[in-house]
Amino acid sequence: MTDFDYCIIGGGVIGLACAHELSHHGSVLLLEKNAHFGAETSSRSSEVIHAGLYYPGGSLKERLCIHGKQRLYQFCQDFDVPHQTIGKLIVAPESGAEELQQLLNKGQRLGIPLQRLDEQQLREMEPEVNAHAALYSPGTGIIDSHCYMERLAQQAEQRGALLLRHSEVISASEREDGWQIAVRSSDGTSHIQCAAVINAAGLYAQQMARGLGVEQRHIPDLHLCRGHYFSYQGKSPFRHLIYPLPEKNLAGLGIHATLDLGSQLRFGPDTEYLPAGSGPDYRVEPALAATFADAIKRYFPGLKTQQLQPDYAGIRPKLHTKHETTADFVFHRPCNRPPAVHLFGIESPGLTASLAIGSFVTEMLQNKAQT
Ligand SMILES: Cc1cc2nc3c(=O)[nH]c(=O)nc-3n(C[C@H](O)[C@H](O)[C@H](O)COP(=O)(O)OP(=O)(O)OC[C@H]3O[C@@H](n4cnc5c(N)ncnc54)[C@H](O)[C@@H]3O)c2cc1C
Repeated sequence: MTDFDYCIIGGGVIGLACAHELSHHGSVLLLEKNAHFGAETSSRSSEVIHAGLYYPGGSLKERLCIHGKQRLYQFCQDFDVPHQTIGKLIVAPESGAEELQQLLNKGQRLGIPLQRLDEQQLREMEPEVNAHAALYSPGTGIIDSHCYMERLAQQAEQRGALLLRHSEVISASEREDGWQIAVRSSDGTSHIQCAAVINAAGLYAQQMARGLGVEQRHIPDLHLCRGHYFSYQGKSPFRHLIYPLPEKNLAGLGIHATLDLGSQLRFGPDTEYLPAGSGPDYRVEPALAATFADAIKRYFPGLKTQQLQPDYAGIRPKLHTKHETTADFVFHRPCNRPPAVHLFGIESPGLTASLAIGSFVTEMLQNKAQT
């Protein structure tokens, strides 16, 4: 006898989206160690609904982003999640014309609406931006990710899911009919039986997988990559999101300008791989403002450096080093063991893809997913 069909470890946006999806199929328990859901990576993103343009052809990142984006917009409408299809400009100097063209071709292949703008058209849309040409992606949006996570939790709870905070999974062992999970909470340690486990522990997914007995060869190396943000004081000079061309190995999308739903402008994130073995460290050094200013002035020469204020940082659970090509999301379902799915490397576009990831995990547990 088990207490639950599914036990989800981690209450970030991915664990919550899995709870939302799986609660259509059985009883769900979600365990989150912090006092709030989504208090780690999921509270430290750009809150952008990506179009799906950047990822390697046929990758899970591409497929799940494009599918997830449609589902996310629909979810926002159905459940009143504040969002805005604000549109994005990818801007390039003369030397980037070829790269812009490649992105345009890719967008056309994928059915992502894009429009190429020359310097004059760009100036009409965004007079403060200096670039030779741009791509306009009207379908890119922004979302209140905190409200989104609340709504995911509410929907899952309405279908009977039990979502617990202050509940840290400390170990798990196999049983004949599933798993026994040891959970530490303020009441002490308790044990829960479940049929299947979903490891959505974000930055701790590798550690959790080891604890769940996954063979080392199936656990990809983790490289923490911090991205800092600086807010820009005063009224935003932009009406759209402004992105430079992405970094070559997609370590990051370049220090871009994002707006939140309150029209607050911020710049970031950059990419800083943390030394091997270090834990999450969310500091934003004020001295980084000078490096940010250099990067931003390439497309926004009117930037006033003193208006940049350290804001927050997020940490990407990358599966590749800065010298390697970009890695895909990894979903591992061990064979010949009680059912489990381990999610590794869920960096951007994880927020956009979250509902598609929830469906994909459900299909994996039902042995229907195409990887
Ligand atoms: C700087 C940055 C910018 C980004 N911008 C975007 C963007 O604009 N658009 C986009 O689509 N995506 C973006 N992303 C990606 C997106 O934020 C992530 O993919 C997503 O938030 C990952 O969610 P998660 O649930 O996997 O991880 P998390 O939010 O980290 O959740 C994992 C949870 O597991 C819990 N946990 C860990 N161990 C245990 C345990 N033992 N017991 C119980 N609970 C445990 C943690 O406390 C945590 O709450 C960005 C990411 C970063 C870092």
